[in-house]
Amino acid sequence: MINISLLAMEPLAANCLIVTDAETGKTAVIDPGSFDERLDRKLSEVGYDNIEYVLLTHGHYDHTGGANDVIKKTDNRAKVAIYKTEEEFLSDSYLNLSLPFTGRAWPVIKADVLLSDGDKIELGSSVITVMHTPGHTKGSVCYICDDNIFSGDTLFCESAGRTDFPTSDEHEMYESLHKLAALEGDYTVYPGHNMKTTLNNERKYNPFM
Ligand SMILES: [Zn+2]
Repeated sequence: MINISLLAMEPLAANCLIVTDAETGKTAVIDPGSFDERLDRKLSEVGYDNIEYVLLTHGHYDHTGGANDVIKKTDNRAKVAIYKTEEEFLSDSYLNLSLPFTGRAWPVIKADVLLSDGDKIELGSSVITVMHTPGHTKGSVCYICDDNIFSGDTLFCESAGRTDFPTSDEHEMYESLHKLAALEGDYTVYPGHNMKTTLNNERKYNPFM
């Protein structure tokens, strides 16, 4: 069992998901796009000692901008995880879009864990599974835990992520969405932007699926 809190963060209202293992309190912060008072308050409630991971669905700056602050608040103990082929986004301001979108290169982030498809991340008594879902970027992933999918900019409520950025691939996006649709059973889906949905709703109504 996990508890999930959602905060939409500046600068582009990317959803930051705070995922806590109900049994142990161990916590992962998915996609902290920035760091502000609300996030600080929420993570203080959870306890910075309990934060084990910052999990990035992909390397765009609006999903990663708060990673260094969260790590620092844990006395550099928590680990940053990103898909192995996405690591270069963390130090390349063109790939991570910070330079073209904001006019400045955002600080480099150091990855501690490079993920592969199917990796299992232990969070207390919970397990988070990594699913490689390229398309929006070459190293985009979805994180799956219990009956929840954290879909980043791959799957949105009745929509999908853009495929016109560096390393985007429309065909790969199509395949990734089909891989998600083929999962067995229903899931709650927490996308990287806008409101949450369910996999069944997306199977029925998402024109990209
Ligand atoms: Zn993105």
